[in-house]
Amino acid sequence: MPNCAVAICQNYYKSTKGTDIKYFTFPKKEDLAKKWIIACRREDKINLKNATICSIHFEEKYFEIPLKQRLLNYSPKNARNLKAEAVPTLNLPGGSLDTAQKQKSKERTLRTTKRRRRGEVEDIIKSSANTFNCILEAHNTETITEESELPTRVKQELSLTLQNYQRDHSELLKLRQKVKILESQNKDLLKEIEGIKSTTYEKYNNILAKVFTPGQIKTLLNSKKNMRVCWSTEDIASAFSLWSVSPKAYRYLRANNYPLPAQKLLKLN
Ligand SMILES: [Zn+2]
Repeated sequence: MPNCAVAICQNYYKSTKGTDIKYFTFPKKEDLAKKWIIACRREDKINLKNATICSIHFEEKYFEIPLKQRLLNYSPKNARNLKAEAVPTLNLPGGSLDTAQKQKSKERTLRTTKRRRRGEVEDIIKSSANTFNCILEAHNTETITEESELPTRVKQELSLTLQNYQRDHSELLKLRQKVKILESQNKDLLKEIEGIKSTTYEKYNNILAKVFTPGQIKTLLNSKKNMRVCWSTEDIASAFSLWSVSPKAYRYLRANNYPLPAQKLLKLN
């Protein structure tokens, strides 16, 4: 940021932004540069590399108007350049600096120093921020690397578990289907057995009915021993007929598992 090197001039780039004031760097020619330095009336040393003098210190004759601007008769001051031999002669501290001018010069130097230091501090803060960002970025990158490694391992385990699950699940489904088939087969078989049983019962019943009463047939065809039979009147009547002929024979037949009601049942009726 250029600022005017002239001791009493308070112009600097920011303060004159948008005005006609322009800043010119010191000439390369040593003898001419000395003239510029003298004009500045500075007590401190001027850094010729960065130092500039603002346009208010140069007479009109020192400005170079480009041909194009001359032809157009339009020459904005801030678009003009200095002629090679230009020397600052206007708005300069007169003779030796008086006390007020010295004070102004000191203040100026102080301001410049402050501005420079502020710039330095800003640079330090910026570079620190950059360093911090770099560290943060590196850290983030590392974290991302760690995280991306972890899911790969977990993903593999998960996919393996999933495969096992799918295999087991399909096996389970197959087994369930088998169970269903077997259940329905079992039902069919049970039906068949029932059918055979009833057919057999009917068959034997038809044969036995020629000799025995329904109660007797029931007793004979039932495999369970000591089953309580509910004797019908027909059964009792038939048994009573046998008992009347020979109570001794009746007792003998009963002892040999012949299906007959107990004697007390006959007496009760
Ligand atoms: Zn100036």
